[in-house]
Amino acid sequence: MTLLDRFLHYVSFDTQSDPFSKSFPSSSKQLLLLKALEEEMIELGLVDVTLDEYGYVMGSIPATVGFEKAPVLGFIAHVDTSPDTSGSKIKPQIIKNYDGKDIQLGKNGVMKVEEFPELKYFQGHTLITTDGTTLLGADDKAGVAEIMTMAEYLLQNPQIAHGKIRIAFTPDEEVGRGVDYFDVATFGAEFAYTVDGGFEGELEYENFNAAKAFVAIRGRNIHPGSAKGKMINALQVAQDFHALLPNLMRPELTEGYQGFMHLHLLSGDVEKAEMHYIIRDHDKTLFEEKKQLFRDAQKHLNDLYGKEIISCSIEDQYYNMKEKVEPHPDLIELASSAMKLASVTPIIKPIRGGTDGCRLSYMGLPCPNLFAGGMNFHGRYEYCSLQSMHKAVKTLIYIASLWGKKRNLKH
Ligand SMILES: [Zn+2]
Repeated sequence: MTLLDRFLHYVSFDTQSDPFSKSFPSSSKQLLLLKALEEEMIELGLVDVTLDEYGYVMGSIPATVGFEKAPVLGFIAHVDTSPDTSGSKIKPQIIKNYDGKDIQLGKNGVMKVEEFPELKYFQGHTLITTDGTTLLGADDKAGVAEIMTMAEYLLQNPQIAHGKIRIAFTPDEEVGRGVDYFDVATFGAEFAYTVDGGFEGELEYENFNAAKAFVAIRGRNIHPGSAKGKMINALQVAQDFHALLPNLMRPELTEGYQGFMHLHLLSGDVEKAEMHYIIRDHDKTLFEEKKQLFRDAQKHLNDLYGKEIISCSIEDQYYNMKEKVEPHPDLIELASSAMKLASVTPIIKPIRGGTDGCRLSYMGLPCPNLFAGGMNFHGRYEYCSLQSMHKAVKTLIYIASLWGKKRNLKH
């Protein structure tokens, strides 16, 4: 099967995950694609193919002769699509030899170069877009199709030497639960890459440290006419609390390596109020300092009122994978070298968010993220370039062969 056919086949499955579901995977329809991938892996000749009770599919490409001792390398992609936009009955449009102009999305809108200037880069490419009614699902079925195509290629070309390679496909990445039950020991790789990035060349191994803060305020409601010295207005205290946090550290005012504190929910009345924040910073020390600002603001106001009217609970969510990846510079060097061999310019930049790979890195599987070639994720303007996808496949093949060579010499 060609890379394009494979990709189109995968996007024909509706695999939208559901943030409100308590089950795992969050939607059972994801299992249909995971099951199909299990069958396809067996057909292609992968070994040790398993589909576990949670929906994780895993399989192995055995090492070529003489490379059995190279450390096991893994590749991972997710099958679910974002809850933000419908992923049902996707009707992809294939635009051959794209002319660099505005793209009509069926009868349902236009993707304008003016709004998406990076479209110009893709002039002459074959683009796959939506018909303007759904997302495309290149996030992350492009990654799934690329890994499967790499597997097929390596199995058909045993002259390309490589160590044992494990591949895995996971549900529920988009609802933040993608690796909740991922069995790192069963996967059995020493290192892995997620293939879940966007533009050609993206190579990511730095992400935010992340926490959430929940602030609850207890006020005291008194008739406003006789409130003097007695009323504690929880809404006023909420504003005072927020004002004690640095004004410039907000998502809308920060970029690159700048962290932030983001108030995303505020509700209440005079009697009680609550505020939900997320706290983000790439730097561990600055991350801890930001969390301390919350405790300082809490203490300051409680002292001012002479009693505990504010409670503040802070919970860490995930950490910067850099700490776990940096001790293995090979992972980044090899990916960069592989990209160059595949005529791709590596673009290394910090992620202002997290990936499944960052959680895996802290579960003992260092796991940077590679581009898959999709653009405008999670919405109706999602598209991907077939040329970029082919380059992603080449990159994976080069990583496999470079890794085997380099690592086999050391063992
Ligand atoms: Zn993704």
